[in-house]
Amino acid sequence: MDENIYLKEEHFMIRDMVREFAEKEVKPIAGEIDEKARFPEENIKKMAELGLLGIIFPEEYGGAGMDTIAYSIVMEELAKVCASHAITVAAHISLCSNPIYMFGTEQQKQKYLVPLATGKHLGAFGLTEAEAGSDAQGTKTTAEKKNGYYIINGSKLFCTNSGVAGTYIITAVTGKKGDKKEISAFIVERDMEGLIIGKKEDKMGWRGSDTHQIFFENLKVPEENLLGEKGRGFKEAMITLDSGRISVAAMSLGIAEGAYEAARAYSKERKAFGKSICDFQSIQFMLADMAVGIEAARELVYKASWLKDNGKPYAKYSAMAKLFASELAMKTTSNALQIHGGYGYVKDYPVERFFRDAKACEIGEGTSEIQRLIIGRYILREI
Ligand SMILES: Cc1cc2nc3c(=O)[nH]c(=O)nc-3n(C[C@H](O)[C@H](O)[C@H](O)COP(=O)(O)OP(=O)(O)OC[C@H]3O[C@@H](n4cnc5c(N)ncnc54)[C@H](O)[C@@H]3O)c2cc1C
Repeated sequence: MDENIYLKEEHFMIRDMVREFAEKEVKPIAGEIDEKARFPEENIKKMAELGLLGIIFPEEYGGAGMDTIAYSIVMEELAKVCASHAITVAAHISLCSNPIYMFGTEQQKQKYLVPLATGKHLGAFGLTEAEAGSDAQGTKTTAEKKNGYYIINGSKLFCTNSGVAGTYIITAVTGKKGDKKEISAFIVERDMEGLIIGKKEDKMGWRGSDTHQIFFENLKVPEENLLGEKGRGFKEAMITLDSGRISVAAMSLGIAEGAYEAARAYSKERKAFGKSICDFQSIQFMLADMAVGIEAARELVYKASWLKDNGKPYAKYSAMAKLFASELAMKTTSNALQIHGGYGYVKDYPVERFFRDAKACEIGEGTSEIQRLIIGRYILREI
């Protein structure tokens, strides 16, 4: 990482700060929150105090005014130790706070972005529905305008942070344009009448993160809480995901690094046939492949971040980074577990948690198949 051309002095500073926090405060509870599926509220407060919950937003909105590379480093360092902490911050920043920053009015930014960026409360984003996952245009939730309010009915699935959030960005159908649904985005407050938090999902990985189904029963949202233009909610959600994918890519990179470092250390300690297992070529080959993949993933993650920071088109690269890094995380965690042998399959070592956490990175914010579709569209358009 020290040799990376994208990094400046402030990036090393943020890396050291988050690494120390992750080692001191996150690592000791990572196994426990995974086992109990407990949301680490105490550390969310500490991350707010460190300014991590608003890292990419200007200081005038309560943020730390840092760039996307700094944010990717935060994701990488947190996920290296605990993916649940990382995804909580990612959903809060990329999926809820960032669309308010990108598409919100000045009044909405003051009212909602400032408390989010300062960590007064957390944010969530509800796009996915029972019949609208990859095909997000299948949205069935409706928003009907009546007497200065939108009345929202429907539900959202797999909504990260939804049981602990104070602010939600949700999408709903507001009409039809020809034969296509017109989808709009709304800012919803936790206390608004008609927002119902459903059951908590019992997940395979990211178990310390808070994921629920949410329901809207005649949810009354003031007209001024429409986010961006009416009818542009789908486009806004896609732009939100273009940038959000950088954070899942950075998380995946962190998970791969955590698993690689654990496997490398274990391979030096563990003895078989009278020598350390790292002396076997097959183990060295696995470690070598992990090291190469991690370097390549980091280049993609930082390149996508750099492009965004420099106002250049980045959506193709954020999809590439997400696809490559999440599949690398899966492969790396699987081989790291293999290097641990039977000990990798039990909960005494963190590799089995890394393995379970890596899987979600291939699904959330667009599956690997959807990333390939996006990349395919870009590369064919370029020809
Ligand atoms: C832990 C977790 C947290 C999440 N957090 C959030 C959140 O905070 N907010 C939110 O809105 N959503 C969230 N999601 C939802 C996530 O984004 C969706 O699960 C994901 O987009 C896939 O949708 P789906 O589950 O409906 O799968 P489906 O869309 O039903 O896909 C099923 C399979 O079909 C494939 N497939 C579908 N369409 C195509 C196609 N055109 N071509 C090729 N293959 C295709 C998929 O790749 C997949 O393999 C979360 C999911 C998880 C697991």
